[in-house]
Amino acid sequence: MMNERIERAVNALKANNFSVIYAKTKADIVNEVKAMLPEGCTVSSGGSQTLIESGVLELIKGEKYNYLDRFNAENPLEIFKGIIGCNFYFTSSNAVTEKGELVNVDGFANRVSAIAFGPEKVVVIVGKNKIVENTKEAFLRIKRIAAPKNCVRLSCNTPCSKLGHCVSLLNNDNPDMTDGCASPQRICRSYLVSGRQKEEGRITVIISEEDLGY
Ligand code: SF4
Repeated sequence: MMNERIERAVNALKANNFSVIYAKTKADIVNEVKAMLPEGCTVSSGGSQTLIESGVLELIKGEKYNYLDRFNAENPLEIFKGIIGCNFYFTSSNAVTEKGELVNVDGFANRVSAIAFGPEKVVVIVGKNKIVENTKEAFLRIKRIAAPKNCVRLSCNTPCSKLGHCVSLLNNDNPDMTDGCASPQRICRSYLVSGRQKEEGRITVIISEEDLGY
């Protein structure tokens, strides 16, 4: 049985026209993804610790699918153009609210743009650790957890990679959404809140009982 917090998020996402799959374990997530992907389809993904930890990245890079790999491309911009027209785009979300919203921040905007428009289907995989009450909490989660840890992962020379939290939280419990550093390597640049969707089921959210990523 899912806990109350997950249940609230699942119901609110469905009410906002997202498809939602509840998956208890990482193996369940991988099985759900296998079931939705036809052989030979074009897939791509945003950079995501969750996709690595869940085993989904390994699956979608397999020989059954045509994976558009921007990380190993000679010309990543050409790959980004291809991603706009791909069949499935996989990503996690920096936060999911109990009101049924996905909240994301990008440094380069490739991920938030693919979530908002382009790929036929978007599949968002999140552990229960990313569920928050509302968008205010979501942006605080990004400043306290997601962005600092991603900066460490990506070796970005930003204040948060040393402080462990956004510089905007120094002496301020309530910074504005875009408050932060002036580092050239800042990863918090383009902010996207995905609320009620027009096209029912374009975005599928797989929510896991396990904690995944950050
Ligand atoms: S604005 Fe800068 S310091 Fe704050 S979380 Fe983003 S990258 Fe880190």
